[in-house]
Amino acid sequence: MSNIALNSIPEDFIKLLQNQIGLESDNLLKALQSNSYTSIRVNNSKKIENFIDRENISWCEEGFYLKTRPNFTIDPLFHAGCYYVQESSSMFLAHIIKEIGMNLKKINVLDLCAAPGGKSTLLLDNITNDSLLVCNEVIKSRAQILRQNIIKWGKSNVLITNNDPVDFQKLSNFFDLIVVDAPCSGEGMFRKDKNARNEWSLENVNLCASRQKRIVHDVFQTLKLGGFFIYSTCTFNESENMENVRCFLKELPISLVKININESWGIKQLENGCFQFYPHLTKGEGFFCAVFQKNEVEISNVYAKKVKPKYDFVSKSNVDILKKWVNTENLDFLHINQGIHAIPVLNIPDISLIMSKLFVKFSICSNVVRRIV
Ligand code: SAM
Repeated sequence: MSNIALNSIPEDFIKLLQNQIGLESDNLLKALQSNSYTSIRVNNSKKIENFIDRENISWCEEGFYLKTRPNFTIDPLFHAGCYYVQESSSMFLAHIIKEIGMNLKKINVLDLCAAPGGKSTLLLDNITNDSLLVCNEVIKSRAQILRQNIIKWGKSNVLITNNDPVDFQKLSNFFDLIVVDAPCSGEGMFRKDKNARNEWSLENVNLCASRQKRIVHDVFQTLKLGGFFIYSTCTFNESENMENVRCFLKELPISLVKININESWGIKQLENGCFQFYPHLTKGEGFFCAVFQKNEVEISNVYAKKVKPKYDFVSKSNVDILKKWVNTENLDFLHINQGIHAIPVLNIPDISLIMSKLFVKFSICSNVVRRIV
């Protein structure tokens, strides 16, 4: 629980906010001095947690506010990936996925800025089991944390990559959904995180805004025609949010997508498909997201290019050994980068393509298997 003094909030931030939302900024600043909420999201394939005193989060079926903040680090269920401690506003992604129907069919999804894994674990619970999620994190040390969280979550239809966004240009026209939860100035975290306040500056806001534009432009080519793109930040300022949205609309072949929300949730709709969470209006921290669909592009069929696989299948006799230890149903075992990886059979063609183009750090079962065979 945090309770911050107004004088620890940067003055330039207050001025920007007043310019942006006028008198409403007083209410927001007041909310930043109140306590933040504690919330968790339950793993829908484990469905175990021990919190009795909990309240539903309206926009995410698996999300709950807790009345008090327990010591999560001493809870075995936390370490077993039975739930993820996540800020409630971020869970709005679950509502968007359902609104755009991405929970209903087999798709390829890219979570481009994925560490520590909050949105990735949410995506895994909201896409079909035959879909493939690629979680990417550019910073190596953070990719390790992402890996731990994904392993704990326990799904197999996921790859973790450690690439720069620009590397995804090699995979043109491949993903049905891309989530860019962009590195940002973090104003929405001021209430919870003292560092976010200390690190804030106007220079950093400008730097973040231009980096966000670059990231989105770099990765855009990998989105399929008709595919969806979700852009999010945990900040309030216009330059990283609506100004970037305007820039994307001008420079990329995309349109905003209408998303229905319930007025009682208190989420501010800035334009069709663009949402701002303000802590004085919603039960959560500051968050921004915009939902787009790609509407025109040259179609280059990636599958038309011959893909040279980088792996061999594990021999039947070794798979028989694995069967004693691992549930091998619907999985194939492949030798990749001196390890053995378990891959869902249905995802083999897509994974083969990704292997040939990107640096794949881990697939979910690789370590378990390496120790056995
Ligand atoms: N989506 C994550 C979650 O829900 O747990 C949080 C992502 S955090 C807001 C932004 C991530 O972007 C960080 O992990 C950071 O390392 C990464 N990042 C930083 N610079 C980047 C860049 N130039 N390109 C891509 N990602 C970057």
